Amino acid sequence: MIRTALRHHAPTELAEAVALLDTYAERAAVLGGGTMLVPRLTRGDVDLDHVIDLRRLGFGAATVTAGSVHVGARVTYAHLLAASAFPGAAQLLQRVAGGITGGPQIRCQGTICGSAAYANPSTEVPAALVALDATMHLHGPGGPRSIPAAAFFLDAYSVDLRRGELLTGVTVAARAARLGYYKLKLAEGSWPIATAAAVLPPAGVGYTGAVVTLGAISTRPIRLDLAPMLDDSGRLPSDADLDDWVAEQIGEPWDDELAPGSYRRMVAGVVLRRALHRALEENR
Ligand SMILES: Cc1cc2nc3c(=O)[nH]c(=O)nc-3n(C[C@H](O)[C@H](O)[C@H](O)COP(=O)(O)OP(=O)(O)OC[C@H]3O[C@@H](n4cnc5c(N)ncnc54)[C@H](O)[C@@H]3O)c2cc1C
Repeated sequence: MIRTALRHHAPTELAEAVALLDTYAERAAVLGGGTMLVPRLTRGDVDLDHVIDLRRLGFGAATVTAGSVHVGARVTYAHLLAASAFPGAAQLLQRVAGGITGGPQIRCQGTICGSAAYANPSTEVPAALVALDATMHLHGPGGPRSIPAAAFFLDAYSVDLRRGELLTGVTVAARAARLGYYKLKLAEGSWPIATAAAVLPPAGVGYTGAVVTLGAISTRPIRLDLAPMLDDSGRLPSDADLDDWVAEQIGEPWDDELAPGSYRRMVAGVVLRRALHRALEENR
């Protein structure tokens, strides 16, 4: 039960939502699917007076156009799974959606944008958006602005959302790619300990051009261009050398109840290699 009085706003205009967020600032929060916000309010982890519900503003469509996919702020994981297969690398969003745990309640309520805005390091969406070079669409008192996902995720639970701003959607390029995704978790229903999304050029040889983005390993996604590690034939070094190199790229690893940072650093190379192998296997 939420024990504090909360005023629920459901604006019909974006400008009204922005004005409410600007006026009430840290006393207000956007309500997406509520799968994170409502439990936090119930536990008393967050103290608010106002919630700004997006449900009457639209933003409920995933739109596929030539070369890109736009996902509105209210698009849920279930929505992505019910859509036709996205073209090219954009399919990564559907792969992520297919592995979200918590059952239909979470997949039908939880949104891509809610996960992005919350930026919990143990979730998959931030790294998937960085892997896809997503563009984040924001709207605030100064009007709209768009920034790359890599610049949006600042730290654990910290994103580049300014006072009065909300996330209206994300756009990902649907470029042709060989794609491999791997998620390490303790059990079928667990959140990930580490994820890796490998994106390779479509007709490349071996791992040439491979970029792998690691998630849940550090406070923000880690995007690794493998070029410096490949030999002239596009081959990887030994597993041990690659794992050592990956471990060196991590900086401060993420530590939570799922796994200590030392474990995450240790498994990062294995998770990265599994994603790379999948990218090759699935695209033979
Ligand atoms: C049981 C369970 C299992 C889960 N399993 C997984 C899993 O396997 N993998 C995984 O990656 N994640 C998992 N999650 C996390 C899940 O992905 C997120 O809870 C969900 O995507 C958050 O979206 P939401 O719309 O419900 O956000 P909300 O709870 O509505 O909001 C979350 C935060 O973001 C803010 N916010 C929301 N939308 C916007 C917006 N448009 N603009 C600005 N701020 C906004 C809110 O104010 C709030 O602070 C799980 C969650 C639960 C509860």
